[in-house]
Amino acid sequence: PARTRFAPSPTGYLHLGSLRTALFNYLLAKRTGGQFLLRIEDTDTKRTVPDAEERLYKDLRWAGLQWDEGPEVGGPYGPYRQSERSELYREHAGKLLENGHAYRCFCSSERLNALAEQRHRLGLATDYDRTCESIPNEESESRAAAGEKFVVRLRVPDQYPSYEDLIYGTFRPLMKRRGENAFEDPILLKSDGLPTYHLANVVDDHHMKVTHVIRGSEWMPSTPKHIALYNAFGWKTPQFAHVGLLVDENGNKLSKRNFDTDISAFKEMEIFPETLTNFAALLGWSHSEKSDVMDLQKLIDKFTLKFTKGNTTVTFGKLYFLQRKHALERAKAGGKGLQEIVQSVLRFVQDPEGPYAGWKPSDGSSPAQLIERLVVADAENYTNANEFVYRHSYVFVPPRNKPAADGDIAERVKSLANVQDWTKDNLMQKVHEIIDGRPEGRSGAKEVYHYLRIALTGSEQGMRLYDIMGILGREECLKRLGVEGK
Ligand code: GLU
Repeated sequence: PARTRFAPSPTGYLHLGSLRTALFNYLLAKRTGGQFLLRIEDTDTKRTVPDAEERLYKDLRWAGLQWDEGPEVGGPYGPYRQSERSELYREHAGKLLENGHAYRCFCSSERLNALAEQRHRLGLATDYDRTCESIPNEESESRAAAGEKFVVRLRVPDQYPSYEDLIYGTFRPLMKRRGENAFEDPILLKSDGLPTYHLANVVDDHHMKVTHVIRGSEWMPSTPKHIALYNAFGWKTPQFAHVGLLVDENGNKLSKRNFDTDISAFKEMEIFPETLTNFAALLGWSHSEKSDVMDLQKLIDKFTLKFTKGNTTVTFGKLYFLQRKHALERAKAGGKGLQEIVQSVLRFVQDPEGPYAGWKPSDGSSPAQLIERLVVADAENYTNANEFVYRHSYVFVPPRNKPAADGDIAERVKSLANVQDWTKDNLMQKVHEIIDGRPEGRSGAKEVYHYLRIALTGSEQGMRLYDIMGILGREECLKRLGVEGK
């Protein structure tokens, strides 16, 4: 069983990319009968967004990704918020100072900035010249004791260990070049005594017994540092799986401008949670199912660590395709999912400021009943309430355009008034009679259907005619056909 975690920093809301990361971790844990952890990495207090944490919880739950351990639910290795674990990180930085894998750096930020600029100009791989790396222990101790400000840096080993990425394969980090390290000695503890991401992340993954880390490939450059840290502590490393970045059609990383908006934007578009998790799962993951359409349970059942290397282009056509498929699933299943759709359509139709305010079915059924019939009949085209009501506006207001006058058909369709029991079978029979009775018989069928469609809906396209007739009901249909009902 895998223990996985989603470790967001509360510096923003959940967006498509981070939802995908959370989802993959969730799926692996559930697939293997393990646990999915949520850990809040709030060490960068300057960048913390006040309501980000609350929103993360809400959005993850909305998507169905309930965590087994973490804030609000607790667990054996808590607390699960890094700001509540500072003591643990300080202790561990102390251990590395003791065993020689870390050292105190007393350089001022002015010196570091100037140095970085200079070294950058020289084309060196690292910003820092490791001056403090050679300060003898005793001197380091006494300067610290005297109150001099310092950070703790990891003493990067000469040979960085390579590691097996579950997606990218063997990763061989660059080694020393021309006597210079290819990697910066990363800061572990800042001068305020708080940890950096690297230290806190590794200490927590170890103590929380995380076995697999699935995260975005933007973290790949950090991984060798993390492995060096695990080695410095003498700990076993978890397995790493880096997933490619999400990019738009022009190859640009998804950003606020090109749709990597937070999850609330999808909620506002009334995208179903199962649509969004389905959509997110397909971004870089490959499966061997016949169909791409999968709800969360199916994703769990089918999940493997089969990913494409490299970036994934996000196109939103697929989102709507999946939405329609999941709408159809909801309609077929009936129950809560269908009722949710019915209720949002109902809210839209009954908006007192909207164009359909005051609408009532003329066949005596309740608005909810009629809308349910409509949704079930055309679920395969459902994307959201607004769009759906617009598509079926003829249900709520009679069409303005009338079919081209054809005396013969207009006269014959009046016999529909003889259908008392307004069922599909009876209607079909009657329409066939009407067709057969025309001078050209069957070959005049098209004209009859066309006439009925225009008279009832004002449009040539749309659902099956008999579905439309059933939904509008007898009285409304006859009225639209200009027949006095009896
Ligand atoms: N706190 C990091 C983030 O915001 C976690 C990265 C990781 O998964 O190690 O994405």
